Amino acid sequence: MSDSILPEEENENPLPWPEIAQRARAAFLGVALGDALGATTEFMTPMEIRAKYGTLKKIVGGGWLHLKPGQVTDDTQMSLCIARAMRDSGGWNLTAIAENFVAWMKSRPVDIGATCARGIGDFMHKGILEVPYNEWDAGNGGVMRMVPVALGTVGDDRLLETWAVEQARLTHNHPLSDAACIAVGRMVQQAMTGASREALKTIAGNLVATHRTFRYRPYLGNSTAYVVDTMQTVFHYFFNTSSFEDCLIGVVNQGGDADTTGAIAGMIAGAFYGIQSLPRRWLRRLDRAVREEATDLADHLINASPMAAAQR
Ligand code: MN
Ligand code: MN
Repeated sequence: MSDSILPEEENENPLPWPEIAQRARAAFLGVALGDALGATTEFMTPMEIRAKYGTLKKIVGGGWLHLKPGQVTDDTQMSLCIARAMRDSGGWNLTAIAENFVAWMKSRPVDIGATCARGIGDFMHKGILEVPYNEWDAGNGGVMRMVPVALGTVGDDRLLETWAVEQARLTHNHPLSDAACIAVGRMVQQAMTGASREALKTIAGNLVATHRTFRYRPYLGNSTAYVVDTMQTVFHYFFNTSSFEDCLIGVVNQGGDADTTGAIAGMIAGAFYGIQSLPRRWLRRLDRAVREEATDLADHLINASPMAAAQR
């Protein structure tokens, strides 16, 4: 098991269930919006972005992957793979998730991270469901696809820890990745159920207390695929903005692994600010099939969660 981060206080007064369910949708759509917005500036520097776009505020596609406006990448697609496997298996089935990853990889996706490709290959050829520890596995590939686990385990913190780490280790086995996955899952869950910004700061603070390297004040401006840089960027912009839109515009204009910082910021900010906060002009641009499937899967996952069971 990963080294423990203290579980947070349960929300004393959670929001009404229909609002929690709406926020689950907002979290999943937030991943896709952040991915689609940030893919344009992936691997650019803030200066290059400024020269080309001023401040990027629209979903315009392009980028190094030459995307259509509203097209998403591996961050969203791998999240959909996990969510579909959870729905189709009627629960948690790591083999089904790995099989969905294989089918996705064979479909020649527009992008796939090297660590993810290696992990999926290990399953394909050797049936491995947990890659061995690797000191170079502290990438953000496990964290970017956390939204299905966050939605599906709301109401059970131990389950969140277990599933977060299991899905991550299909491709990434590193304590910093494990810890970030759990922290992001908790932030999404707490945000969804109505926790305050201060409560989310406590979760980030506990991550920093356990692994000092995640310290995000002062913010150093690194936004690479190293999970530490990724989380610092997400924390910096989430805690220094006051809307979904401003948070996402902040992270993607930082460049670097912008679609992934966008996806992670999108799941936390979507859960925190709610469905009404998602800019309509971005939702309209988002790939329609992705928008519809993310919505359906969010509904399914939240309704299958321990918290939903407790409502009945
Ligand atoms: Mn991507
Ligand atoms: Mn990326």
